[in-house]
Amino acid sequence: MTGLSNAAKRDIETVLHPYTNLDTFRSTGPLIIERGEGIHVFDSEGKEYIEGMAGLWCTSLGYSEAELIERGEGIHVFDSEGKEYIEGMAGLWCTSLGYSEAELIDAATEQMRQLPFGHVFGGRSHERAAELAEKLKAIAPHDASKVLFCGSGSEANDQQIKLLWYYNNAKGRPEKKKIISRLQGYHGVTIASGSLTGLPANHMDFDLPIERIFHTGSPHYYRQGEAGESEEEFSARRAQELEELILREGPETVAGFIAEPIMGAGGVVMPPQGYFEKIQAVLDKYDIYFISDEVICGFARTGNMFGAETFGMKPDSISVAKALSSAYVPIGAVTIGEDMYQAMIDESKKIGTFGHGFTYTAHPVAAAVACKTLEIYEKRDILSHVRAVAPTFEKRVLGFADHPLVGNARAKGLIGAIELVADKETKKSFDKSAAIGAVAMGAAQKHGLIVRALAGDIIAFCPPLIIKEDEIGEMFDRMARALDDVEAHVQKEGLRG
Ligand code: PLP
Repeated sequence: MTGLSNAAKRDIETVLHPYTNLDTFRSTGPLIIERGEGIHVFDSEGKEYIEGMAGLWCTSLGYSEAELIERGEGIHVFDSEGKEYIEGMAGLWCTSLGYSEAELIDAATEQMRQLPFGHVFGGRSHERAAELAEKLKAIAPHDASKVLFCGSGSEANDQQIKLLWYYNNAKGRPEKKKIISRLQGYHGVTIASGSLTGLPANHMDFDLPIERIFHTGSPHYYRQGEAGESEEEFSARRAQELEELILREGPETVAGFIAEPIMGAGGVVMPPQGYFEKIQAVLDKYDIYFISDEVICGFARTGNMFGAETFGMKPDSISVAKALSSAYVPIGAVTIGEDMYQAMIDESKKIGTFGHGFTYTAHPVAAAVACKTLEIYEKRDILSHVRAVAPTFEKRVLGFADHPLVGNARAKGLIGAIELVADKETKKSFDKSAAIGAVAMGAAQKHGLIVRALAGDIIAFCPPLIIKEDEIGEMFDRMARALDDVEAHVQKEGLRG
């Protein structure tokens, strides 16, 4: 720990860091970001970087009319008619709008002043909850009837599983419970959402996945396509494997399938030609509920409001979080269709209550910030902005394919990645001990750019959606300088073997 600042030492001794080698971290210490402005962040020494990886006890009151709580003061809350109540039951690829969006700060501040906490249990509500649900329903890529809020992407996907199980019980098909996810997919880290995730590090020694959750092959054509196999043929193979898995398990036992439109944490893996069309046909054939995990792809990231639209998916439901609030406050959500809603009504009538909810479900400050975020997307037409700058972003990422280190480059909208290889012809990876991804991430950092190295020496790019054309140019100029440094390092150390 020698040579580290006091702040870094404090951090090492107090904070358990996810996705970190906890052993080496003790000597490397953290990169402490102190301040953000637009697409830039600054470390504790004032160094500037382009952020290239845009990061109850319940009283069941039955179905009585919702009470709208409008204002709070001390131990009191006030409803829309001014009636005062003593509150006797005392109640997280993502900064889409950058780091200094005053309107979001104001929205949070105003909501804090007005009603810093309100819940939606037992028929209670507050205006921001419905306002946000309406906005989400209006833009959802399927016929959404209701929105169930939560605090994160993991919670959203956890809820998806619970809702699907609840629904199939309500529908009188208790055997239809298995959920299929994909290897390399990332859906969170709770016991259930972590089980959906298809990455070894999220399962190993956590005793995951749990039963009833299965994984089918990943859509990574560059790595898993066979010699001579076209993208279309690879997609057909993956769809066939999915069908074989369903038939093996028994179609009557398979409830759902979950997929990210573009896999994020698993390596920014793009769906190959024809992929979702073929997968969709299998799902339709066996009456399998399709969940699009839009936690990264949602809200204009891929050049449409949702990734499902970009890739022609026909989901029954979506999971959202992150850019829902530009990550200024933690909030996530799940949308459901009318059929599921009706079944849930029947089930909760039978049981007496819909026995699910978090203290922070539809937290008013989070909901207010999310409402403002969606309002900003609309009034500033962020979608048109993304469509206008995406060609430059995509061209710059794809341009790296000419670099001696880059085996594959991929981009869509404002998300992309490059895969670093020792040999471009054979796609041979560098030896793990070379940690080339981490070296490239460090080199980018040195040139003032934060990117993320994913497993497989994949460097991911996902800047705030507000990034401008010239800033995209600057971001990738810095990355190009970093790659040249890495190439010099590879040659000096003789890492190509
Ligand atoms: N789903 C996807 C596609 C994600 O990328 C993530 C997080 O990166 C999650 C779910 C989990 O979200 P959270 O970290 O907010 O729990």
